[in-house]
Amino acid sequence: MCYNASRVLSKQKSLLFSLPFVSFALGLLILVSACGRETNKDKCSRPDGHPVEDVAAQDIASLSSFNSVGAIEFDRENNNTFSQVFGGTSGKHVSKFFSDRIETWAVGNPSDVFVFSANNLKYENWLKPKSSVKSAITEPAMVGSVLAFNLSPLLWIQMLLENHPYIVVYVKGETVSIQSIRDGLMVITENYPQYYQANQCDWKEVPQTERQAILIHEARHSDCTGGISVAELEILRSAENKEDAFTKFQNRRCGHLHVKCEHLPELKGVEACDRHAWGAHAVQSVFLGAAILNTQDQTAKQRLKSTFLEMMSRIDLPDSEKAVPPDMSSSGVYR
Ligand SMILES: [Zn+2]
Repeated sequence: MCYNASRVLSKQKSLLFSLPFVSFALGLLILVSACGRETNKDKCSRPDGHPVEDVAAQDIASLSSFNSVGAIEFDRENNNTFSQVFGGTSGKHVSKFFSDRIETWAVGNPSDVFVFSANNLKYENWLKPKSSVKSAITEPAMVGSVLAFNLSPLLWIQMLLENHPYIVVYVKGETVSIQSIRDGLMVITENYPQYYQANQCDWKEVPQTERQAILIHEARHSDCTGGISVAELEILRSAENKEDAFTKFQNRRCGHLHVKCEHLPELKGVEACDRHAWGAHAVQSVFLGAAILNTQDQTAKQRLKSTFLEMMSRIDLPDSEKAVPPDMSSSGVYR
């Protein structure tokens, strides 16, 4: 499968609203304080990276050569979890997991994405932030930098709310049609990591598998595991605004939407945690677990371990979720 920066699918256009705020729910955040690059910019600035498009394209292409040795070892130690999540241990399985879920990707900012529909959107109040676009992406809760986000879950749910057969988004000059949650639309930002600060003036390359784990995380957001019910759609239709909708909409498996972190002081109140089994952070962690086993370089291994622990720390499961096996299916609307 070819991953162009965007695919052209022409549809009727009528610009209605932009959609940067979905990054709250679906973007993968990294804490600015965790790397501290801003404070040392003058003295020891980060090395110039490669164009993000090129790095991302290479990361995606290399998923198919993921080393199965780590996956097999991870399976042996973890009850075949890697195979249950990815459908097998080979790079081909990993690559298929991604390509089944991400149809289009582009490098840009949240504000590069606009939504179109053939008709007026009645329920945009469900998705629309109360404040303007700009303040929505800079509100205090947004303490980190978004690395990437997947727009398709909320766009697809929006499509269902509107009873439209598709919804069209305009991404960096191209149009993309969303008809299924599996028509994943991933936007990678300029924060997509290439270097990290090991010490004050010591920048090291981020292991490629750490970035690939971000791609895997975003791909998981393209699963509506267990489907979404007509009753849930009615609840969403009745919501006053996004805040109200997310309070009422408890089905986080559909789109594997994050919840506000309550157990992590540094992320308290930020929608970057999971309280259901096998969400995006868990799937990302399974990939990272195998990547750690594949990595011989001790510096890279340490970096991957710390990322693994950070992602795992964002999972706060109630007891009822702890023994749930991975369900990697995706469904539509049910009665
Ligand atoms: Zn996410």
